[in-house]
Amino acid sequence: MLHIFCPHCQEYREEDEFHYRGQAHIVRPKDPEALTDEEWGSYLFFRKNPKGIHHELWYHTTGCRQFFNVTRDTVTYKIHESYKIGEQPAVKSEDDLA
Ligand SMILES: [Zn+2]
Repeated sequence: MLHIFCPHCQEYREEDEFHYRGQAHIVRPKDPEALTDEEWGSYLFFRKNPKGIHHELWYHTTGCRQFFNVTRDTVTYKIHESYKIGEQPAVKSEDDLA
């Protein structure tokens, strides 16, 4: 069971209160009509699946009902930070943990 810090509620809550919503920091193309079918398909369907540091989008379903991002290690499940949408993570890679 993960204990996740919600940056909106400012408290740790159990994982059951949240829903994972996928990879964080996916930027919608400014002009989708200009993309090839392959580029559009990549934007819609292809996501990273890293071993290690991963930036994830979470939703506080039974709490404040706000979205936020989490930096989590997919090997150890350790959560390094939670931060609001629009903010940048302090931990961008394994190198930031040294
Ligand atoms: Zn919350």
